[in-house]
Amino acid sequence: MRKRSWAEPYKIKMVEPVSMISQEEREKAIHEAGYNTFLLRSRDVYIDLLTDSGTSAMSDRQWAGMMLGDEAYAGSENFYHLEEAIRKHYGYKYIVPTHQGRAAEHIISQLLIKEDDFVPGNMYFTTTRLHQELAGGTFVDVIIDEAHDPENLHPFKADINLQKLEDLIKEKGADRIPYVTVSTSVNMAGGQPISMKNLKEVRALTNKYGIKIVHDMTRVAENAWFIKDREPGYENHTVAQIVHEICSLTDAATMSAKKDALVNIGGFLAVNDKELYDKACNLVVIYEGLHTYGGMAGRDMEALAIGITESIQEDHIRARVGQVQYLGEKIMGMGIPIVQPIGSHGVFLDAKRILPHLTQDKLPAQALAAALYVDAGIRGMERGVVSSGRDKKTGEHIYPKLELVRLTIPRRVYTQAHMDVVAESVEAVYENRSSVTGLAFEYEPEYLRFFQSRFRKL
Ligand SMILES: *Cc1c(COP(=O)(O)O)cnc(C)c1O
Repeated sequence: MRKRSWAEPYKIKMVEPVSMISQEEREKAIHEAGYNTFLLRSRDVYIDLLTDSGTSAMSDRQWAGMMLGDEAYAGSENFYHLEEAIRKHYGYKYIVPTHQGRAAEHIISQLLIKEDDFVPGNMYFTTTRLHQELAGGTFVDVIIDEAHDPENLHPFKADINLQKLEDLIKEKGADRIPYVTVSTSVNMAGGQPISMKNLKEVRALTNKYGIKIVHDMTRVAENAWFIKDREPGYENHTVAQIVHEICSLTDAATMSAKKDALVNIGGFLAVNDKELYDKACNLVVIYEGLHTYGGMAGRDMEALAIGITESIQEDHIRARVGQVQYLGEKIMGMGIPIVQPIGSHGVFLDAKRILPHLTQDKLPAQALAAALYVDAGIRGMERGVVSSGRDKKTGEHIYPKLELVRLTIPRRVYTQAHMDVVAESVEAVYENRSSVTGLAFEYEPEYLRFFQSRFRKL
């Protein structure tokens, strides 16, 4: 059959110029940033793959929605549009807008977790786990073992190991497990999906013990795309139907709308239980704002309502995940080790295998991210020992099995040509990998240290 190419399902109406500074200037910039890509100035970056969070391009419809902001303190019309979009596309009954995802995590953790509780989940997420700990709980990873192996080709690496989950329930008692966190398209595993089959089994098991499921739905549309693409029986479902079905199997959700939902800021907590909703409304006024705006401006809620609708359109999500697959296949074709299968929102370089001369205490992923920036101004981020933090009890580094550099692709922002430039830079760094030296901490903040730590070259 003749090859037929596909292209981005949009055309460009407005541009934002980018430019590349010299290699010498980049060396100076990364040194001044303490070898932490989070501390670089954006103007010194050529292609910014730090995160897909809040970096997406909004559509002309969303920008038009921004002009319809009803900035009333109470009962903004945009809140009702948002509530309608969430009820229609996700199916949850009650929503509390928040300024971003972590605020929703804070509220649900404070409401449901008691001192000495355990909260199982399919791998941790930085802010999610921290809020669970600050509420007195302990996170327990119950993801399948395959998720910790970057070479394992399991199609649903975010699946939960039911045996691990049931063992934990039996050991600690169901009354000490307020809920299970189920994340769709698990970021820390490399953007890997959970299957509908597994989610249904987790639902049956939690029902048996009367335990809730809280859905971290930050990347639910991407997960739904993988289910359509890989899970038998879902080929002919629409992504919209799959998203709805996933949500229907859970009791509540936290959402960082800065990812799949195509806005630059925003989030929400969604619940089905009226009593829990009333309590969340009570907490949100302390930390965020009135329950009809939480932490969001009216115009931002309008853009989000439209973004949710666009995020589940087939053309959009196929191209979104397709662009990530394109970059991943290109890098893999160069013989460079990455997490497989290629994830939904980024390509994860396997720093352990790329830099075997650096032991994990020399922070190989942090060092690789810095080297990549110096080569061509491409900014990725560390997802390894620095992101994992320290053990709450012993104070030691937590050494995760995965030591990765994440190249995260913003939605609807870069073209295929940008992806080619990225792959070529990764290849150049790979060829010179023996010259990459390790790093040591110079400054380390107490919480979420990957954001603000500074390092020095060894
Ligand atoms: C980004 C993210 C969060 C936190 O959301 P923020 O909007 O950054 O506060 C929570 N969970 C996952 C999986 C995320 O990717």
